[in-house]
Amino acid sequence: MKSHHYRVVITECDHGSIEEEKGELGRIGSELILAQVQEEEDLIRVCKDADGLINQYALLTRRVLEHLPNCKVVSRYGVGVDSVDLKAATDLGIIVANVPDYCIDEVSNQTIAMILTLIRKTAFFDQKVKANQWDFHLGIPIYRIHGKTLGLIGCGKIGLEVAKKISAFGVKVTAFDPYIQKPEEGVELTDFDTVLKKSDFISIHCPLNESTRHLMGERAFKKMEKKPILINTSRGPIVDEKALIQALVEGRVSGAGLDVLEKEPPDPQNLLLKMENVILSPHVGFYSVESISELKRRTAENVSAVLSGKSPRSVVNREVLGKTRAVISEPTAG
Ligand code: NAD
Repeated sequence: MKSHHYRVVITECDHGSIEEEKGELGRIGSELILAQVQEEEDLIRVCKDADGLINQYALLTRRVLEHLPNCKVVSRYGVGVDSVDLKAATDLGIIVANVPDYCIDEVSNQTIAMILTLIRKTAFFDQKVKANQWDFHLGIPIYRIHGKTLGLIGCGKIGLEVAKKISAFGVKVTAFDPYIQKPEEGVELTDFDTVLKKSDFISIHCPLNESTRHLMGERAFKKMEKKPILINTSRGPIVDEKALIQALVEGRVSGAGLDVLEKEPPDPQNLLLKMENVILSPHVGFYSVESISELKRRTAENVSAVLSGKSPRSVVNREVLGKTRAVISEPTAG
């Protein structure tokens, strides 16, 4: 007799524990196997009877997917789904789901933390005091935050959360986002050049694609009139680092807070690592104990939803809906 209703395989993951996934899938009577495999043949071998897959980096090619006759859903940890052949999944009726919004609180806080650190020069003073330099004049001038303008490049989930939080500091928010028609309350939508011209702080929250690669380049830095602080918690290549270094040297940008870089980790000789008015963090914006736990639980929820006949919260290949292998009777899961 079959002891489990379903078989779900985690192709691989580097999270240490899979307790959240086990808890969620246990609720629908599913067994959960952590395979830790990457090669095509291994993936086919361990996943061939699976009803659903959870995936981190292993490539789920058309060939792999074609060898999984029972698989109804692939759920990817996080936002990106580059590891899955989406066209093949759609052709086979397999739903591909992701978790696009598990770290909005964390990334927006990282952004605010960087703005405050640069404005109040806390990292700078910390280094000075620890080097026995007890003199606030070293950090002069410091400007008031209240009344300043933050310009957002991209005003989606994270950008909007930054807007809400920074308004508590009395900061006005203006944004450039070509895909938004109606501004959210408290955000003034405008064109790219106006954001560059009018902002005291500029924060990047658009995705990286061919139209945003090096969007912050020489031309953009030349349009900045208020010697702004630049924050990037989105993706490194949106900023042309060579042009940023030049703008910092010339004083057209007064400081930068970067959680992401063009090359991660950076070369040790990257000049940004040597500048006192630049603060850096190692692409940590997404991370907190709670965000990772939420990510794991919700990745598993996508699978349990499909296996229980519900559409998961976030379907990537929406074209598959209506021709799925799974019988979906409820439009949206919890
Ligand atoms: P989102 O999809 O909700 O918002 C992105 C916004 O950018 C959308 O409103 C879109 O219309 C806008 N946009 C698209 N192209 C644009 C352009 N050319 N110019 C201006 N705006 C444009 O995404 P999100 O959840 O807010 O995440 C934003 C970005 O943050 C992600 O793309 C990702 O790269 C990054 N991110 C970083 C971390 C980290 O650890 N640092 C974690 C999560 C996300």
